Amino acid sequence: MEFQRNTVRRTIKNSMKLRSEYPHSLQLYSVPPSETIGLQELEDWAVERLKVLRTIERVNLSKNARFSDDWKTALKNDLQKQNLNSWYQLSSSIKDDKMDEIISKTRQKDHVSHFLMRLAYCRTEEYRRWFIAQETDLFRFRFSMESSEDIRAFMKENKMNFLPIPEEEKKKILTKLIHAAQFNANKVDAVEYYKVPFTEALDLVRHRKVYLQAGFAYIPSEDLVSIITAMFRSHLSLAMALTMRSLPELEDDHRIRRLLNDFDKRYTGQDFNSLQNKSSGAAVTPEMIDGLSKQSFPLCMRHLHETLRSTHHLKHGGRMQYGLFVKGIGLSLENSLKFWREEFSKNMDMDKFEKQYAYNIRHNYGKEGKRINYAPQSCIKIITASVGPGENHGCPFRHFDAAVLRQKMTMNRVPQPAIQEIVDLVTRHHYQIACQRYFEATHNTEIDSGIQHPNQYFIESQKILNGEVKEKIKGANKVQTIRATLPAKVEKLETNENEVLSESVLAAIDMDDDFN
Ligand code: SF4
Repeated sequence: MEFQRNTVRRTIKNSMKLRSEYPHSLQLYSVPPSETIGLQELEDWAVERLKVLRTIERVNLSKNARFSDDWKTALKNDLQKQNLNSWYQLSSSIKDDKMDEIISKTRQKDHVSHFLMRLAYCRTEEYRRWFIAQETDLFRFRFSMESSEDIRAFMKENKMNFLPIPEEEKKKILTKLIHAAQFNANKVDAVEYYKVPFTEALDLVRHRKVYLQAGFAYIPSEDLVSIITAMFRSHLSLAMALTMRSLPELEDDHRIRRLLNDFDKRYTGQDFNSLQNKSSGAAVTPEMIDGLSKQSFPLCMRHLHETLRSTHHLKHGGRMQYGLFVKGIGLSLENSLKFWREEFSKNMDMDKFEKQYAYNIRHNYGKEGKRINYAPQSCIKIITASVGPGENHGCPFRHFDAAVLRQKMTMNRVPQPAIQEIVDLVTRHHYQIACQRYFEATHNTEIDSGIQHPNQYFIESQKILNGEVKEKIKGANKVQTIRATLPAKVEKLETNENEVLSESVLAAIDMDDDFN
């Protein structure tokens, strides 16, 4: 009993401590965490954050304008589907005692996982750029859900001394404010205006959206988000450059090294390690594979299948990539052995197959060696694999040269305008988006969730072909819209990322100045 009372007391104390450490749902992540946290918990939190950031990236490529109401709804829905609602339900205005502990714990998770991911993503300019872009969007998304009272509390907490101008001052410059913001008089009256040094609002000044006077910009409250987001981004940019410098020291700890190893390549989507074809509920047999490969295989797997059929052989990388994929779509061990045996035996005798290859197939199914039931490979794993001469695994959008890719797509009857678009996306290294366009062009429909995994591609395709996603096929108009919006979206994102890049470089230069 005494023990229980102590536990309750400790819990309340911890909760109060957390609440005072994390008074607000928005954080600038200025101070690293100092608590003791278990390694497993640390890893789980970081993986959750990685899922959230990847979701933001995916939603950014949908047809919705960034930060529009539709964009926010799409992001919330996607996070809810993955059970990640807590990542945006952190509002400071929730005062419910029961929720108090949960919210404080979630804020701690937010804080700690941010710092861990900084370590994982500070290594290269490309990683830094990606991380800063997604984190900034996450911050802005959360910011947009806060009440003005909470925003004021956040600014006070972080010493952002932006104060609303008094009514008399506003009245004096009313016409100028109306002109600058292109609001009507009623709207200007209803909105609070903040007076900030113009250097803090360069983005708004550049777009001539604010009134300037004596070195100050007059910002309507709804545009305050641009300034605070810009501050967040440049703060993070500098922090990433500093983290990179400290990385060698931190990596001396083997536990951190193990945790960060290949963190960026972690697959965070659905588990496709199943023997059932989930979309139809039916098992797949070797006889069905030719048909399925033409209808529903992504280009990587279709290429491996065609190579296997024509050469009756695949090298190790190809056997692993393709063997695990067909296992994931529902080919049982017996059927897999039959499938590979029939094909390989056209070039070699049975004995050689049994001795050299059957073992590996059983191994993939967890029947040999360490008896691990291996999962099919994700796009990230396939895209980042190295492919040597004479090997056929990898991702065609990443590893084929443009002429071969064009030829393949022409053979698969992809319309010429779509081929051009896909090749453009590939040139800009957007391999998974190129695959998404390939899917859309070959199925004449959109796929909101993007492509993260070859087995996900297969399942989505089967759903459409089996008529489960009827309402999405609305003919050419919708697909034309996607065709029109996707490259523009990519272009916009690249522009934003480049802004981040230059900020990051500037931050690094500033930092060098500090060190000199
Ligand atoms: Fe295969 Fe993924 Fe590449 Fe598409 S993006 S071809 S599914 S590896």
